[in-house]
Amino acid sequence: MNINVSRLNHSFFTGKVETPILFDVSCKFDEREVTAIVGPSGSGKSTLLSLIGSLDSPTKGKIFFDSDDITIMDNKNLSLFRFNTIGFVFQQFHLLHSLTVRENILVALLNKKITFNKSERVDEIMNLIGLYDKKNSLPSQLSGGQQQRVAIARALINHPRWILADEPTGNLDSENGELIFNLLLNLHEQEGCGVIFVTHDIALAERADRIIFMQDGKIIEDRRNEAIC
Ligand code: ADP
Ligand code: MG
Repeated sequence: MNINVSRLNHSFFTGKVETPILFDVSCKFDEREVTAIVGPSGSGKSTLLSLIGSLDSPTKGKIFFDSDDITIMDNKNLSLFRFNTIGFVFQQFHLLHSLTVRENILVALLNKKITFNKSERVDEIMNLIGLYDKKNSLPSQLSGGQQQRVAIARALINHPRWILADEPTGNLDSENGELIFNLLLNLHEQEGCGVIFVTHDIALAERADRIIFMQDGKIIEDRRNEAIC
């Protein structure tokens, strides 16, 4: 499932005062690629990612997932679309501290119709993130890097087509950041989901298939990295 962002404009409003944030942003994302978005703080990276993930709707412009324009979907269809298509990962892990790791992952499926076996999928995903033996631990018993792994597992539980990760390594030291990034690359391979991630770490961005550079609400450069052999 590919993404086509077409002439996206977005403003925030304070009363009647309009603050434009994104200016005519157009780009396509191929699910076979891992795309990094980099740029200075305030350049609109998170805004773009949250519009792509339908957490907010743009002031103007279109966002297609294959032929479906999510900017014209009603709320009911949007929430179904998000559930079926997108896995979000944030800088803060947003785990619920009184629930076990397993329960944190299953929270994503509350009140949802699913066709797979929940327990089997949790086990599969806990293996994938390398934390099978921590299934019944509380988040407070895990390191930051391990907590982010759990947040990634939660994002993946429903087999999303896309992982959208906003500075997933931003709260981690470089060693754990590296581990999380490697995990995202593995998931891209093994689960076949497209990945878009925002980062400040240019060394990580260089390891993506493609880097989009943003500045002042615009894409100023968009390049593919040489294949790493
Ligand atoms: P980045 O992720 O690149 O740091 P953001 O997309 O978070 O940038 O923010 C871009 C600009 O939009 C910033 O100037 C920020 O202050 C502003 N902004 C972000 N969210 C809101 C909001 N909810 N209301 C008003 N302004 C916002
Ligand atoms: Mg941001």
